[in-house]
Amino acid sequence: MPGWELINHKEKKSLLSLFNEGGCLFAHGFEKHRKRFHVREFEKNIKNRFKSKYCVAVSSGTAAIKIALKALGVKRNDEVITQCFNFVATVEAIIDIGAKPIICNIDSSLNMCPKDLKKKITKKTKAIIPVHMLGVSCDMQKIKKIAKNKSIKILEDNCESVGGKYGKKFLGNVSNIGVLSFDFSKTITTGEGGAILTNNKKLYKFCKEYHDHGHQNNKKFSRGRDTVEYAGFNYRMTEMQAIIGKEQLKKLTFILKENKKRHRLINDILKNKFTIREINKNSTSIYDTFIFKVGSISKKKSIIKFLKKNLGTKNLPDAIKWHCSYYWKHMLSKKEIRNSFKGKQLLEQHIAIPILLKKSLSSYKFVANKINNI
Ligand SMILES: *Cc1c(COP(=O)(O)O)cnc(C)c1O
Repeated sequence: MPGWELINHKEKKSLLSLFNEGGCLFAHGFEKHRKRFHVREFEKNIKNRFKSKYCVAVSSGTAAIKIALKALGVKRNDEVITQCFNFVATVEAIIDIGAKPIICNIDSSLNMCPKDLKKKITKKTKAIIPVHMLGVSCDMQKIKKIAKNKSIKILEDNCESVGGKYGKKFLGNVSNIGVLSFDFSKTITTGEGGAILTNNKKLYKFCKEYHDHGHQNNKKFSRGRDTVEYAGFNYRMTEMQAIIGKEQLKKLTFILKENKKRHRLINDILKNKFTIREINKNSTSIYDTFIFKVGSISKKKSIIKFLKKNLGTKNLPDAIKWHCSYYWKHMLSKKEIRNSFKGKQLLEQHIAIPILLKKSLSSYKFVANKINNI
């Protein structure tokens, strides 16, 4: 997820131009002190890039999940199903609303297992959050079919696969509502930041108002006399984040192309010796992580030891505690921890190599050949 690697004079120039335009750092109003509305422009660019009808830019991916859950009508004591391989933010957002997180197992794609999802649905299930982990889509066809049969809404957590696709659609725009993250470790970054995508006007209206204290931005009135329907909160993005986001978004196509070159190269060297993470046949990966399975414990140890001196390892195993629900005893019931055990065992057999664009193709070739010979 290399957006941060590519921050250069372009972001710097854009940020300085914001100060030359009058220095308005706020998304609304102050018309005399600004020439443009950069958050609004960033939202427009996101909509165009990912072909969604609506977009709301917000302060973080975590905030985006919480707002989207609220928009879907999730309330206290409702159950929300998400997956064992994940990031803490998704469960935090569920808990913050007072809803109950239910953990679904993962399959060999390391994403939500549709078979287990079916078993986890109860009368209390209000929403399902499939999480497209580390570049790769969940099996959205199966998940959507299950949800549709039970009239349950889907929120895609697409914080980790920005630019990826399922079929012809961009991830985050495959179901009822979806979220993106632009935190500093993500594919494109605004430092902190996120966005909500939807094609549903009602959901959009709620998100737009809720993230901005309920402001309806009623054109008939000034902001100080604006109309309001719901109690909201402040999850707004700033102009500084948006102006950087606009530059980063222009780099996404290049990032995806370069990711793929590196991923392909490692794949070609390791595919005969290891089981490579399965990519759903309808999915276009963003290739930002190379994940493979190593059966032998001693071999796995040697490979990790070698990688630590080199490119490092991503979530698996380095940050597994932040990415596997088995470790979240501070947030989950004993039952959900038990439900996470199988997933933890599967994740423990995998190694994740980060794809970094500042590392050359030849350095990836060197690493892959070394691993092949261990
Ligand atoms: C990063 C991430 C989030 C949260 O995004 P922030 O912008 O850091 O709040 C949520 N879910 C997943 C899967 C993530 O990787």
